[in-house]
Amino acid sequence: MTLEIRRLQLATLQGVDGNEWPVHGFVVRFTGGAALVDTGVGGPEQWLTSWRVVNRSVAAALDELDMTPGDIGLVINTHLHFDHCGQNAVFKHAPFYVQRSELSRARTESPQLTGWFDFMNARFELLDGDADVLPGLRVIATPGHTVGHQSVVVDAGDGTCDVLIGDAAYQPRQYLDPLSDELPDGQASDVTAWRQSLGRIRSVEPDRVHFCHHTDIVHS
Ligand SMILES: [Zn+2]
Repeated sequence: MTLEIRRLQLATLQGVDGNEWPVHGFVVRFTGGAALVDTGVGGPEQWLTSWRVVNRSVAAALDELDMTPGDIGLVINTHLHFDHCGQNAVFKHAPFYVQRSELSRARTESPQLTGWFDFMNARFELLDGDADVLPGLRVIATPGHTVGHQSVVVDAGDGTCDVLIGDAAYQPRQYLDPLSDELPDGQASDVTAWRQSLGRIRSVEPDRVHFCHHTDIVHS
């Protein structure tokens, strides 16, 4: 099966280094459908203000691809931070593929976000570790940023492989140098697990790594 990745520019916010960071989601198109990886920013107004969010609607971003939210058959959330699941409610028709441990973490740590990811009748496909989602599309558990973080592996169908890394690395620098002691605030809630997860991602031998908060693509 041929899969095609398209990046969505969903927002900017003030990153932990004080610079402006992009917020990306990714559409994975395949024969007969499409999946969305992360839905962009949403949350209480004071969060958006303090992160200096300049937000876009995910529907507007999809429109640039001549797509509508109804074209998205399933959503994968790499994790449930407000800049990755903030517009889940736009996709009430779709199942949300989330690690079970991540849903439980977010329910405990972020009850303020209930209306954004844990709304009435939200349909979760709860995962316990690595899982195949569709032919050519799978997730691997990459805990460390959060306890239930996952990254997405796309086998494009031409023998090459892409990783949508989520926040397992904010930027290429953390991916390329995981042993650095200079981790940005919030990069790792568990540094040991975080480093092991970057090793897991490398073991996939991705040809391209795509970031949520950086526009560079790491080629290898
Ligand atoms: Zn995050």
